[in-house]
Amino acid sequence: MATSPSAGVLSVILVASCLATCFGQIGTPEVVNRPPAHLEDLRDASRPQLEELFASGAAGGSIRIPSTEQPGELLKGAGLPTLVVCGPACPIPTQVARIVWGGKVFYSDPETKRTTLESILLLVGTAIQAEVYNTNETVTALRGDGKPSVVLDYSISGLPVISKVIDEIRMINPITQLWLGESYLVLGATKILLAYFALEFPTLVEEKFDHIVIGGGASGTGLAFSLAENGHKVCLYERGDLRSKPKNFEGQTIEGFGLGLYNPHMSQVVKTKEKIRTHVANVLSGGTALSAGIQIEERDEYFRFLEREYGVHFDEELINKAFNWVKERTNDPMGQDAMYSDAFRQALTMVGFAPDLGTQRKAEMGSINPFSLFKYDGDKLSPDRERRASDVLLKGDLSANGGALTVRYRQTVLKIEFEETADGVPKAACVVFGDSPDELMPVDSIANERGTEREPRDTERVMNSFKKLCVNPGGEIWLSAGSIYTPVLLMKSGVGPKAVVDKVVAKNGGKAVKYIEELGKNIHDRNFVPLVVFFDKDLPEPGLPATYASYSGLQRVGDNCQADQGEMLDLSAVSKDSCTYINQEEVKGADSLWGLLWSTRLFFPPEFRSLPEVDFLVEVMISCNNDSSLLCAPLSPLIECIKKGAGFFAFVPVVQSRGEVTVNEDGGPIVSGGYYTDHGGHDLYTAVEALKRSLRIVGSGMFDDMMQKRSPLSCPAQVLNGLLDLFLIAARRLPLPSTYALTPQSPQEPFYQFVQSTRDKVLNSSSSSSSTSSSAAEAEWQGEGSPVFQWLREKAQLASELPPLPARVRDLACQHHIPLAGPWCNGDAQPKDKAQMEHAKQFAIFPPLPVDLFDDKALATFAKAHGTSIWHWTGSAPMGTVVDSQFRVKGIDGLNICDASVFPQMSRMNVQADYMMAGRYAAMMRQQEGGDAEHPD
Ligand SMILES: Cc1cc2nc3c(=O)[nH]c(=O)nc-3n(C[C@H](O)[C@H](O)[C@H](O)COP(=O)(O)OP(=O)(O)OC[C@H]3O[C@@H](n4cnc5c(N)ncnc54)[C@H](O)[C@@H]3O)c2cc1C
Repeated sequence: MATSPSAGVLSVILVASCLATCFGQIGTPEVVNRPPAHLEDLRDASRPQLEELFASGAAGGSIRIPSTEQPGELLKGAGLPTLVVCGPACPIPTQVARIVWGGKVFYSDPETKRTTLESILLLVGTAIQAEVYNTNETVTALRGDGKPSVVLDYSISGLPVISKVIDEIRMINPITQLWLGESYLVLGATKILLAYFALEFPTLVEEKFDHIVIGGGASGTGLAFSLAENGHKVCLYERGDLRSKPKNFEGQTIEGFGLGLYNPHMSQVVKTKEKIRTHVANVLSGGTALSAGIQIEERDEYFRFLEREYGVHFDEELINKAFNWVKERTNDPMGQDAMYSDAFRQALTMVGFAPDLGTQRKAEMGSINPFSLFKYDGDKLSPDRERRASDVLLKGDLSANGGALTVRYRQTVLKIEFEETADGVPKAACVVFGDSPDELMPVDSIANERGTEREPRDTERVMNSFKKLCVNPGGEIWLSAGSIYTPVLLMKSGVGPKAVVDKVVAKNGGKAVKYIEELGKNIHDRNFVPLVVFFDKDLPEPGLPATYASYSGLQRVGDNCQADQGEMLDLSAVSKDSCTYINQEEVKGADSLWGLLWSTRLFFPPEFRSLPEVDFLVEVMISCNNDSSLLCAPLSPLIECIKKGAGFFAFVPVVQSRGEVTVNEDGGPIVSGGYYTDHGGHDLYTAVEALKRSLRIVGSGMFDDMMQKRSPLSCPAQVLNGLLDLFLIAARRLPLPSTYALTPQSPQEPFYQFVQSTRDKVLNSSSSSSSTSSSAAEAEWQGEGSPVFQWLREKAQLASELPPLPARVRDLACQHHIPLAGPWCNGDAQPKDKAQMEHAKQFAIFPPLPVDLFDDKALATFAKAHGTSIWHWTGSAPMGTVVDSQFRVKGIDGLNICDASVFPQMSRMNVQADYMMAGRYAAMMRQQEGGDAEHPD
């Protein structure tokens, strides 16, 4: 629980004031200096602020401490959380307030009309009693300012210290029913303030909205803003924090987008059934706060394909207007690095990604310099100039049409409530929400499916002080929680496949609202295949400026591709037997690869990625990333190596495999990507073809003077041997003389001890599961007996070998201009595929490649072993089946979905520009439907 006081929080409730603080500009600041509304608003309050608030409050309104009408009511969890500031002596640690206030049973005696606190549930077996009464007396034990308070007097409890405690409680926000309490220890005439605490009771928030949007991500922010701009009163719920909170600082920056992925305040790990580690956002702006920022728009033909194939309708004019709206607010062309980006662009052209189309936002055949969320002034890329989806909130005048937008951050929507209309159709009416937990734990699909019980940690407990917010008559609720959480939330609300809904209802009560068998079934993601090469130490440009897709390629491949096929293939006919698409992207520099490698763990096969041994290796590397002390000095060669990497990534543009998202009876998500499971084998074929292009790019000759050649001292060998050494130290043995030894001389050395203690930390946390560590469902630590150790040993050996002789001879021949039958070094304009692949064998590549690059089966094994989620989850509530062309959930009134879920087939390249567009587009459609004269451009 956060306890650091900070000023100015109490007045920050609604988005307008938040934006004024967080973004620096806003059209019409809406609210300042209103009292705090929720526990969350008190979290960072300082002692003087609490003091002032308490003085301003009073008992009154609809007090919910049980009266005679509500005997024995269970106030479940009320008062559980929030900031507690200790009194001057601070004899009771802050956490005690949680215990004292967590879960109480009151009893009101109908005869005497006296209310007592009968017990506090968390202290199992110990009944703590208190007398509960209202007072406005100037009692010395109390504050004594004559204001009415509710008092809990524990003197009847008979317990030594507790009987000397008195709690005095006042209401500080009658609309949201927020109470603030002071706890005193009364010792004769002396009164010591022990703690402040807050209570928030389950209640209906009286204020109503025209639209409630759940999820402030790529689609949700633009949607909420545009609905408000249309003149509606809109409330947007985001479970995560504002993007500007200090603890989020290392989110998406040009210095390293992957870093945000192991920050639980921004991102949540989702382990799929295939043991792939993917991530979903937990911060305002959604995935765009974590992403590589690559913005590519789909072309009209893609939307026509969706129309043809799924019987839906798109308004092309509106789509283009919506695309332009997003573009103007969020992006510039991706910056470039003269030496490297140009080489990559030329290499792309040499392996067939032609023509070079220059700067482009549309997905085009050939190679393009795409747009990006990173701001680029044509000179230098700056780490501080990133943009995100919530930037769309910054422009425009919401009040022009009488609209207003409230953003509630750190509030998780737990359920949607429905009412029945006269014709028996359910109508979405309200959302039930609560304060978000401090930290989100990883989703473990395998453990959830097995029903493995895991006691939630305090930090992840969703507070029980639920509230309800409803829409006005005719109002609408929108789900924009992303392709994984949108169906999960629906299933928890009684909507979804019958088998799933029935089991949730049987366990948790409530009722089935609507059976929709297709919900969650069409979800798909991409599996990207990585190839990392390393810059030579003699780089002409210092500092390796980072680039994310400074060039991107899209191309058609296959024996049966027709020259006159036109720009866009019929996506329904794409197959390995006819003609398909492949693509290529690059990232390099700063921490671009660092965060990505450790958060996905892609260099290990999926079955190893969540084993405790890998948790340990990752934990050591992450701890040492920013450690400037000498402690981690032995690891600096590894760290430097990874920072010298450039990743060439290939992925499948038209994914045909399908996964599933569902929930267990407790609502725990179970996610599967279904990677490479399509019947025709298209996806794996495509991944292998794309991998071959990555290899050909490496071997194109464009990187000969730039990238490391393979040797026992090159980076892959150093990294793998270094990880092996860590393993050996962790097993309490001094390192064997490996090629690259970390060589601590004795167990007393600080590095040795650091490694040991990290191992112990990982082992201790494996049952409670932290953001980086595995779950209890995974195997035990096996140390050197672990398959991870064996795997590392094999791969380290492979990486340490010299390149095969024929390739070396050819390379030497090139260097000395000896004419050999190979076009890779003699300037031939049409290099052969095989020659480029052969030449690639010279390079230090990570993860280590199979020995035979011409064996497609071996390449397929490599693709499966090192592929990982590219976070493009799409299609779990597709248009055509689950929602109609207007984003309305079929068979339910007043309920819409607008996010990645609704696209039945994901777009061919990077998806987020399309999903950002969808938010604006949906609001524009509503505006048109409403018959308003103008929709906003
Ligand atoms: C690491 C990473 C890199 C990526 N790189 C790129 C890239 O370079 N280019 C690209 O095109 N795409 C990229 N993507 C993908 C892209 O960001 C996503 O496809 C996109 O953000 C999905 O949009 P969405 O609106 O469906 O969901 P999201 O953007 O994920 O938004 C959903 C929001 O809902 C909130 N939420 C969920 N449940 C609740 C609840 N119950 N109550 C309240 N709020 C809730 C979440 O916190 C989140 O903010 C990347 C994604 C990641 C994670």
